[in-house]
Amino acid sequence: MPTLAENMATLDRHLARFKQTGILNRINGADHPGSAGTFQTTTPVDKSVICEVAHGTATDIDAAAAAAHDAFAAWRDMPAAQRRKILLAIADGIEARAEEIALCECWDTGQTLRFMSKAALRGAENFRYFADQVIQARDGQHLKSPTLMNVTTRVPIGPVGVITPWNTPFMLSTWKIAPALAAGCTVVHKPAEASPLTARLLVEIAEEAGLPKGVLNTVNGFGDEAGKALCEHPKIKAIAFVGESRTGSQIVKQGADTHKRNHLELGGKNPVIVFDDADLDRALDAVIFMIYSINGERCTSSSRLLIQDTIRAEFEAKLIERVNKIKVGHPLDPATEIGPLVTEEHFNKVTSYFDIAKAEGATVAAGGVATGDAGYFVRPTLFTHADNTMRIAREEIFGPVLTSIPFSTEEEALSMANDTDYGLTGYIWTNDLTRALRFSDALEAGMIWVNSENVRHLPTPFGGVKASGIGRDGGDWSFEFYMEQKLIGFATGSHKITRLGV
Ligand code: NAD
Repeated sequence: MPTLAENMATLDRHLARFKQTGILNRINGADHPGSAGTFQTTTPVDKSVICEVAHGTATDIDAAAAAAHDAFAAWRDMPAAQRRKILLAIADGIEARAEEIALCECWDTGQTLRFMSKAALRGAENFRYFADQVIQARDGQHLKSPTLMNVTTRVPIGPVGVITPWNTPFMLSTWKIAPALAAGCTVVHKPAEASPLTARLLVEIAEEAGLPKGVLNTVNGFGDEAGKALCEHPKIKAIAFVGESRTGSQIVKQGADTHKRNHLELGGKNPVIVFDDADLDRALDAVIFMIYSINGERCTSSSRLLIQDTIRAEFEAKLIERVNKIKVGHPLDPATEIGPLVTEEHFNKVTSYFDIAKAEGATVAAGGVATGDAGYFVRPTLFTHADNTMRIAREEIFGPVLTSIPFSTEEEALSMANDTDYGLTGYIWTNDLTRALRFSDALEAGMIWVNSENVRHLPTPFGGVKASGIGRDGGDWSFEFYMEQKLIGFATGSHKITRLGV
């Protein structure tokens, strides 16, 4: 495994061209500067400027939407086998440049190489998986009635907008863009302003793989300008959005006048419930992994630990010991487990909860401090002696911060688990099968794992309920979003047609 110094040297080689040209918008297969000039992207590792980025606005979105609109018919009508080949070539291209993607992602977002090298490869898997669904994506049903042969078919909805956040941006973008392209849609992608690097790599890889110009367009810029314009654009038929719950509401409002279809993947305050009959060693590993991996900047993170009071003291003691040993450091150091938080704004938000916890009467049992002398680093943090009414139990902190809350009965655990605005994931640890069935049946969440951490399997549905979102990704669910159902009824004979005005 390369050392930190070797990784930095490789990264410098990859960044050289960004430093020279900046990141331009990519519209209709060509580079374009932003209509409002540029903004800068910085690294949270040492706060230095990485490069200038095209500052796109409604003007750039309009050009990209026009390109996506013009490219749509040919992409939709391209034989499925040919589209499949291109998607597979994109997967190959991602694999070939996985190291570059991972290094750039780490430098841009503060994520650690340990996790981002896998995330880059998962981006390739997303393309490979949806490439294999292309052939049957448009298949429909035959629903015969007494007078009609009813046939359904699915058609791609048209040009779509994809708006992505800064947490694992490459992987999340492929999660949206791969099924959209497989369905036959064209795409305008607006990546998060805090993490533009890998979106640029993706569009380059796609074009090198043979994706026709205009099928994938990338416009950089801010949410209230470029993002808003994308939602409002009449040529864009749907918005696939990943981000905060508050922004999700804005997405819906902005798209109302043009009747946008929206898919919203939003925030979470996900519970992990540990009963005293569980395999506590495995539960401990999973609890730690699901909040402290990926810097805790993860929508599915289990940020509320509901722990049975009979095992609370022992479990929390082991937790504290392990949390204090987690290695915070440079994201390109292969030993690092937690890197810096993505931006100053986010660092300020996460660290503000250290005082909020104390003011609310909780105990800061581990962490609760910033660390390092240059970037936005924090120690992994554990709050104990908390209850479910506190802000640290209700608000999405989106950092390596866990709130531990005791319960005594299953009923109490369920009531607290569901007493939240959110409903993305839930994790249940028990060896009582009936309880696991009963509990998962009543838990308000889009995705639940029993005796497991979150293990993504692409054919399964991904998404949340309540303030965590609307709609599902994965398998055929993705195609339901990017495609329209169409019914065609063929008369099978001369059935009676009601006659008027005779
Ligand atoms: P954010 O909502 O601030 O931004 C996400 C994207 O939306 C960015 O590209 C931003 O520019 C854009 N945007 C902002 N305002 C907009 C507007 N008015 N119109 C159109 N676009 C706009 O989110 P973030 O801080 O970048 O990401 C973190 C959030 O994402 C967390 O809440 C996290 O839980 C959530 N998330 C959810 C999932 C999921 O699958 N449910 C996955 C990853 C992240």
